[in-house]
Amino acid sequence: MTTTHPYVPEFKLTDAEREKVLLEIYTRLGQLSPDAVSAGQMEARGGLKDLERNLDAVVDIVRRTVPGHIEPYLAQFLEDICNRCPNQGPSAHCPLRFSGTCSLFRYPETIVGATRDALGEIDAARRLS
Ligand code: SF4
Repeated sequence: MTTTHPYVPEFKLTDAEREKVLLEIYTRLGQLSPDAVSAGQMEARGGLKDLERNLDAVVDIVRRTVPGHIEPYLAQFLEDICNRCPNQGPSAHCPLRFSGTCSLFRYPETIVGATRDALGEIDAARRLS
């Protein structure tokens, strides 16, 4: 069931840190699939602009999840992101997830890996400041 409650981030990023995480994700996705970062795909439903709107939730999920299999991440994407997404319909069905055109579910390993590495650099920079 879709909820209208906004996501409340556990870990707050500064604007610069947010840009760093997004840049890491876009760089890796661009290497993996240049089409994913094309202007048309960025703006499409389920594209990377949607991912930007869900970045806080992705960051929290990556921070709280022990690295390993992708399934625990996917389960939390469904719970914390899909349940707030307007693209998800009744019975938790999402046509974009079903057709493989939501970037979050099409490239989860790349998005999780890029986010984790960027957060590692962010944490290191915070310790030094
Ligand atoms: S899979 Fe569907 S419901 Fe989930 S984030 Fe993507 S577009 Fe939204």
